[in-house]
Amino acid sequence: MVNILMQLMEALRSGRLKVVDLTQPLGPETPVITLPPMFASSPPLSIEVISRYDDQGPAWYWNTLHLGEHTGTHFDAPVHWITGKDLPNNTCDTIPAHRFIGPACVIDVSREVASFPDFLLTPEHILAWEAHHGRIPAGSWVLLRTDWSKRADPEAFLNIDEDGPHSPGFHKSASELLAYERDILGVGVETVGTDAGQAGKFDPPFPNHTIMHGAGKFGLASLCNLDQLPPTGALVIAAPLKIVEGSGSPVRVLAIVPA
Ligand code: MN
Repeated sequence: MVNILMQLMEALRSGRLKVVDLTQPLGPETPVITLPPMFASSPPLSIEVISRYDDQGPAWYWNTLHLGEHTGTHFDAPVHWITGKDLPNNTCDTIPAHRFIGPACVIDVSREVASFPDFLLTPEHILAWEAHHGRIPAGSWVLLRTDWSKRADPEAFLNIDEDGPHSPGFHKSASELLAYERDILGVGVETVGTDAGQAGKFDPPFPNHTIMHGAGKFGLASLCNLDQLPPTGALVIAAPLKIVEGSGSPVRVLAIVPA
């Protein structure tokens, strides 16, 4: 087993394996999900300088951050949803660390989403993907490639019109298949949350959150660079901050892929 790790390190050093950063920059302009006005909202990130080589600290620079747990590229823990609130090890500080690492299955629906922003992944799409790439292994991250992260303008990214946000996501039956029959680690998306923009009107509302977190699965939102991953064969590491009773956390998501 020592040999496997030495081979891994040598492959990374020599460039035969490369690291792809699936994380968006985190700053005051980072888009944050908007909810209907009767619900409390999450603030955008604000950064306040403590000192920057000045009277407040002549030789050091550091900042204070103020942000919601679910800001930018972030991790959703099962406790985030009411369906997962009583599960064991459901918070950022209690999830066993080995569950932050898994193989990635990347389902590319970018072409469908380009012509239909409200696209929903169905079991038929998953089974068609499996016919080409094999059955999704238990313990996988299932990443939905939509190219939505290429919408650099926050307005286009959130894509809100008079009847709310429009962005792709999962049909309830697809979330059920992935959670119950494939036993994945969780899903990752390029959009601001792991449910479709219109999902507040679905039955149940926000079905992917309801089903995934009720089954003890995770979510990753606001990913990017999924177009640099192969359909299978990448290893993804997504470890949230160890926030005590945390419902989620900004996260640096890394993929190790063959060069
Ligand atoms: Mn979230």
